[in-house]
This record gives sequence, structure tokens and C-alpha cells, in this order.
Amino acid sequence: MTKAATKGNINVTTENIFPIIKKFLYSDHEIFLRELVSNAVDATQKCKTLLSAGDLKKVTGDAVVEVKIDKDAKTITISDNGIGMTDDEVDKYINQIAFSGATEFLDKYKDDDAKQAIIGHFGLGFYSSFMVSDRVDIITKSQKPKSKAVKWSCDGSPEYTIENIKKKTPGTDIVLHVAEDSLEFLEEQRLGGILNKYCKFMPVDILFGTKKEMQDDPSGEKDDEGNVKQVSVDVPNIINNTTPTWMLQPADLKDEDYTNFYRELYPMNMEDALFNIHLNVDYPFNLTGILFFPPLKKKMDLQRNRIHLYSNQVFITDNVENIVPDFLTMLHGVIDSPDIPLNVSRSYLQEDANVKKISGYISKKVADKLASMFKKDRASFATLWEDLKVFVDYGILTDEKFAERSQKFYLYKDTDGNFFTHEELIEAVKEVQTDKNDKVILPYTSDATIQHSFVSAASEKGYKVLIMEGPLSAHVVSKLEQTHSGVQFKRVDSDIIEKLIEKDETETSLLDEKQQETLTPIIQSAFPGEGYEIKFAAMSPSSAPITITISEWMRRMKEQQAVGGGGFQMFGDLPDKYEVTINSNHPLTTHILGEKNEEKRNAIAKEAADLARLSQGILDGEELSAFISKGFKNLHS
Ligand code: ADP
Repeated sequence: MTKAATKGNINVTTENIFPIIKKFLYSDHEIFLRELVSNAVDATQKCKTLLSAGDLKKVTGDAVVEVKIDKDAKTITISDNGIGMTDDEVDKYINQIAFSGATEFLDKYKDDDAKQAIIGHFGLGFYSSFMVSDRVDIITKSQKPKSKAVKWSCDGSPEYTIENIKKKTPGTDIVLHVAEDSLEFLEEQRLGGILNKYCKFMPVDILFGTKKEMQDDPSGEKDDEGNVKQVSVDVPNIINNTTPTWMLQPADLKDEDYTNFYRELYPMNMEDALFNIHLNVDYPFNLTGILFFPPLKKKMDLQRNRIHLYSNQVFITDNVENIVPDFLTMLHGVIDSPDIPLNVSRSYLQEDANVKKISGYISKKVADKLASMFKKDRASFATLWEDLKVFVDYGILTDEKFAERSQKFYLYKDTDGNFFTHEELIEAVKEVQTDKNDKVILPYTSDATIQHSFVSAASEKGYKVLIMEGPLSAHVVSKLEQTHSGVQFKRVDSDIIEKLIEKDETETSLLDEKQQETLTPIIQSAFPGEGYEIKFAAMSPSSAPITITISEWMRRMKEQQAVGGGGFQMFGDLPDKYEVTINSNHPLTTHILGEKNEEKRNAIAKEAADLARLSQGILDGEELSAFISKGFKNLHS
């Protein structure tokens, strides 16, 4: 008995919810395709389940989902050979259950401030098709024996029609009659782009038109070199890889597989990843994935949104903020978890217990991996350290547990290229570098070229100078001092070498206090402005006569202020403040004092001051030009 077309009303209280769906999901219109294709994939996979449970004797049709565009008819059709639906099932799943998803969305919209970003990926499922369609038809036939095909049709009002029609094979065709404002989706490129974004790793073959492939010429004709000629032929275009690498067992995978997968994920990336972590957990939540460490070098590549989030092989988002710890967003790769709630706003996500657990788990996995690499092959770990350091530093600063775990593998590199763990470093330097207050002083350089004279002075003293480059160093050394009591980091140029590590022994000064008092205003007036504080120190006569430094404390505040954070914002921009140390044992100081001609004396002082500033890179502009032309003149006068 064939059923005459019947009409029904989708159980709905709102006059017409579709304009609202349309308006509020505007920025994410394209997800309709993800929803419909994943429904088709689900329906296809359900066949397998029913077969193995014995609920179905046989399944007709290949396990493939096809997406077709008909430009003339202005339709997009998504077809599957899946389980299909009987008319009762259409009523149950489409008219009642699926609709509840849409109504839930509406409820949410009513409660929330309309401006609050509702996560774009609200599980609207089937009804999201109305974002781009004037009318949607479902033509479906159940795999159950003797099923009759039905056609459901709805134009976006709460009214729908359902009737029996002819359909040869079981499965479902969803036909979208594309609306005038959505005609872009009838472009192959546009639709193909969306498929590639959301469906690239779905578990059932997805067919979308054809692609060109070079094949042997069937005539067997040969070219000049005797090879069979190649001809371009149209072959079915399967857009996805149904068994993405993260779903496979790590034991079955080689390094090469990971490299290839990285390239598959980021075809535009020029560099290969350094190494990867294969995540796999099924309790207390489900999560699989592969994280790749890109070569970061010293730069803090804050280009986020590189980790792709999937739910059962369906792409959800590449905005994983709040799901993975902040520092891990520097990584690349895939996380696949059906346990991450997708249907809620971002602010809610932060509070979600599962999300917190997942976040903690990933952070631990990363730390464990680094620790095991360190243990297994320290030498190669050290060679990677340059690329890892900025990442680890960021982790240390933002994730307390990670900071703790990192102590196992955190490395210091000195200017001779040696690497030390914290313990090893302290052991190696404590003899020489303990100051009079029993603190172990750790001199470091942020730029061994610019700070060259300070670095070599420290090395001559037998100090190890650590390399602490990068934008986070100021924050990192403060953090390390908190973690390890009894140590203090000091940048090599933060003080004269005699005072970098203060010991009890002092050289005797050749200048008495009165002489120092006489000399102070002479030197002072050789420096411009307020920012220079004159001090005297009894140093070795062979050390520089005048040294300009910025104290460790002052510089750290400025650096932390520049990077942000550290609580120093309230001071506003800090002015430059230099300490000028006069070596009271240097022959130049006695020479200046001994010069009776005031003009000459001031000229010597000025030249010495300029040289000291030049060595610090803080002599510039007019003063620098004047200094240089005077220098040239001296060569011939
Ligand atoms: P969800 O997929 O989240 O369950 P949807 O609104 O997308 O919600 O779909 C509602 C229901 O309609 C599905 O659960 C399924 O039972 C049925 N359905 C949708 N598309 C198909 C299809 N292509 N083949 C068979 N059943 C489908």
C-alpha cells in the first residue's frame, strides 16, 4: 500500500525557528556539510554494527558517502548506502528527536546574552542544513528487508510532507535546495574546501566528483625514451583518509609514518617536526592524538591554532584554547576526543571537569616524553634543546606541575657549549661562585656578542656563564630562583666583574676619599643627564677604567615589563638608569686627577665617558657623530 503524501507539523512552539538558526550560526554556515556528511558516515557504520550483531542479514551497497553538486537544479546531494530510515524512523528521528537539538539551541539562545559567543559548533545536526537551503528533502530507504522508501520534505517552516516514493537501493539521499544567499556552496572549490577541512579523516570513503590522474596510455604507445606514454584520466575523487595515523597503534608505526602524517596535516609547512608524542588514553576519558614539536628556534612562535581538535575523526576546530594548556598551543598536531563537550560556550568549557583533566593529562604526557628522551639519549636531547627551550620555559612559567616535572630534564647551556642539569651545575660551580652570603651566583648572558667583554671577564675569573636568550629569560630566571633556593642569577653585565660575585677580599684603592670626591663631578659632567650614577671601586689596574652597567634588579623589571606581567606595570615606563663604576686603580684615573689644565682634563674625561658608552651601545645621534669625527681628526693632528 502506497501512502499518499501526508502533512505534519514539526512539534514546535516558535513560529519559525529557521530564520533564527540562520542568523545565529551565520559565521559558521559551512558546518552544515560536516553535520550531514557525518550523519551519512554514522549511518554507513551502523550497517556494520547491525551486521555483526545479526540484526541485519545483508547490507546492500558500498560503504561510501557521495557528495554531488547540481548547478542547474541548484542542489547539493549527500548520499549514503547506510541503514536508511523507515517512515516511522523519519518521524521519530527527524520530526521529533533531531528537532529537539534545534529547540535546545533556541533555549540556549534565549538564556544567553545574544552577544555572547555561542560556540559555533552547536550540535544542530540535520537541521543545520536549513542554514543554506530553502527546502530540504530526505529520500531514504531502510536496509531492513521489505522496507518502503519515503521522501520527507520541508521548506523551513514547521510544516513538512512525507510520502512514499521509489528508491532502488537502501540508504539515504539528503537533497539541499540551496537558497539564493548561499549559492557559493554550489561552487566545487568552495564545497571541496569545506570537505577537506572537516571530513579529511572521516572513517568512511567520501566521494566528491573526479580528479585527474596520470596513467599509462591504454594504447601502450611509447615516448622517445621508450616509456609508456602518460595520459591524464578522470578518476573518482575520494577526499579523505579513513585511517588517520593517530588512530593506529604506536607499535605499528615507524618514524616515517609520523613524518608523512605531519605533512598530510600541514601541507604548507616547510620544516619537519622534531619529534612527536602519540597520545592514547581510554580512562577516565577517551583521547587519542599525535602532538608534534615544530622547530621553534629561539623565537616564540605564538602562532596558535595549529592543533586540530577532532571528535571521532570529525574535525571540530583548530582553536584549542582552554582545552590544552596555553604553552602547548605552540605545538602542532591532532587531538581526538568524543569527551570534549562541543555544544557549549567557551567560558563554560574552561570550567568543565573533563577539559581540565584532559589538559592536565596532556601536560603530563609532554613532560614524561621529554624526560624519557633526556634519559634515553641525553646527547641528542641536548641538540634539540635549543628548539625546545622557549617552549619549556613557557611551560615552566604557566604550568606549575609542568615546572616541577621539568626539573628532570631542564638544561642549562654555558658559553663553552656544555649542558648541565640544575644539580650538575651547582655541583660544578659552587666552589668558585658562592658569594659571601653563601648564595651560589649564576652569571648568564642574553647575547654573548654584545656582552662579549663581560663574558670574557667572567670566564677569566673561572665563572661559568650560562646562555639565557629569548624573550622569556627575565621571567624564567626569577622563576628558577623561586624553585631553587640559594641561587641567584645575574646577567654578566649587571655589575663590574669584581662585584658580580661578591667575596670578602677587596683590593686596596689607590685613590683616597678626597681624591674620589674631586673626581666625581668631573666624570659626572662627562655624562649626559640624570641617569648615570658614579661609583668607585678598587679593581685590578688592567680592568677597564670606566664600566657602565644596569643593575640586575633594574633590568629584570624593565624586561618583565616589556614582555608583560610581573606586576610592574604600575610604575609606567621605567627610565634608563646606569651605574658608572670608576676603577680607582686604573692609571687613567690618576692621569685625569693629575691634569691641571681644566679644559684638557674635561676633554679626557669626556672621551673616556664616550668610549665607555660606546662599548655599551648607548652613544648615539649627534654625540656619536661628534665622537667619531674627533677620532678621525686625532689621527692626523
Ligand atoms: P545527531 O546526528 O546528533 O543524532 P541529527 O539531527 O544530525 O542528530 O540527526 C538525527 C537523527 O536522524 C540521527 O541520529 C539518525 O538517527 C537520523 N539520521 C540523520 N541522517 C541520517 C542518514 N543519513 N541515514 C540514516 N539516519 C539518519
